[in-house]
Amino acid sequence: MTGLDGKRVYLDWNATAPLRPEARAAMLEAIDVLGNPSSVHAEGRAAKRILNRARSQVAALVGCDPAEVVFTSGATEAAGHVCGRGFMKFLHSEAEHDCLAQHVTGSKNLLLRLSQAGERILDPDHVSAFDAKLGATSLAGVAFWTTAHNETGVLNSRGSALGDLQHCETVEDAVQIFGKMPSPGCWADYTLVSAHKFGGPKGAGALIVRQDVAFRRFLRGGGQEQGRRAGTENVIGIAGFGAAAEAARRDLEAGVWEDAERLRDILECTLAETAPDLIIFGTDAPRLPNTSCFAVPGWKGETQVMQMDLAGFAISAGSACSSGKVGTSRVLRAMGYDETTASSAIRVSLGPTTGEAEVLAFADRWTDHYTRFRTKAA
Ligand code: PLP
Repeated sequence: MTGLDGKRVYLDWNATAPLRPEARAAMLEAIDVLGNPSSVHAEGRAAKRILNRARSQVAALVGCDPAEVVFTSGATEAAGHVCGRGFMKFLHSEAEHDCLAQHVTGSKNLLLRLSQAGERILDPDHVSAFDAKLGATSLAGVAFWTTAHNETGVLNSRGSALGDLQHCETVEDAVQIFGKMPSPGCWADYTLVSAHKFGGPKGAGALIVRQDVAFRRFLRGGGQEQGRRAGTENVIGIAGFGAAAEAARRDLEAGVWEDAERLRDILECTLAETAPDLIIFGTDAPRLPNTSCFAVPGWKGETQVMQMDLAGFAISAGSACSSGKVGTSRVLRAMGYDETTASSAIRVSLGPTTGEAEVLAFADRWTDHYTRFRTKAA
């Protein structure tokens, strides 16, 4: 039994997007470039040219100056450069990806609530009191802002309201936005970018460091990336990252995500017609165009992922973590859903090449399993 016409159907674009042909071609070309980009000879300068080109391509997608792009191995490493510098205080919500959330320890941080729709509730008095308290200590503070939530697709566009903090740096996780929506521009001190979310290779990304920020280096070693990230750059991966960024920007301008949104809406309507007990998360908030997160309480997300995988469809449980294990979604719990509902969530995320027939085939097969689940539960 396989997806559609014997082919598997990939509906997990928020986990990682398929590699773009432009990225593949750029990487194949870069493989044969011999030099170290830090070397001054012709071979080194050729490698450096690849980095410079990619830096401009990434900057154009993200909406920053090329000099602000610091290449890393991905968004997780980028987050580590900002948050892994010792004793710190954090302003955060439960909506952050683990690459930020795992840095938060202790209870003396400031936790922002989530609305039932998944938006962060920002109380300016609360936030400035936290900022002022930090000013009275010698601790560094970092405020996290996730612009698009990877599980639910809920958008939080008011992060720039944090721009006035005096004692707290700001980091925006905009990983899920880039390539899918026009960039909100880099208002934060630091912005996280990950290549594989928009068709670049896995293991390449960037930390965008605003030019007026006094960035303290985290890794000791060579002076690469203008002294901001030591270690010889991943020239091949960065070549693919840049090419993917350019292609993603072109596609965005051509409006290719509008169709993903239309298909997402068709999917949700079709499933809701079959399953009266279906809960779709975040529908009261603005969302990414491609993401649908939903649950039938009691039908475990983990089970659904396995059932759909066997049927030829790749999707995620709402709360799948990097080890492949599935737990209860802390984000859905923070949105006020109970344990049973939060552990029953799955996420379907589409891309510009997803076809209507694929979405309908998924809906069909999911409905079969839903009917079986209901019959068994009765
Ligand atoms: N932030 C968000 C919102 C993500 O979805 C992800 C990846 O799943 C990351 C950060 C981590 O990115 P990377 O895989 O480049 O470390």
